Amino acid sequence: MAVKKKKIGSAGRFGAGYGKVRQKLVAVEAKQRKRQECPFCKGRAKRQAKAIWLCSKCGKNFAGGVFHLED
Ligand SMILES: [Zn+2]
Repeated sequence: MAVKKKKIGSAGRFGAGYGKVRQKLVAVEAKQRKRQECPFCKGRAKRQAKAIWLCSKCGKNFAGGVFHLED
C-alpha cells in the first residue's frame, strides 16, 4: 500500500492536534527560508536578532520583519 505523503511541509514535525496553527506555520517558515533581500542594494540580508537585519553586501544594519523581510 502506498504511503500517503504529508502535505504540511515543514510543520510535519508537529503531530496531529495542531491543525490550523500548523498551516500558518508552513506559510511563515516557507517565507523564512527564501532569500531575504536588502532594500538598499538588493543584496542578501541576514537576520541577526528579532527584526534586526544585516546586509552582507553593503553592510547596512536595518530593522525589518521579525522573521522575514517584507516583500
Ligand atoms: Zn545591502
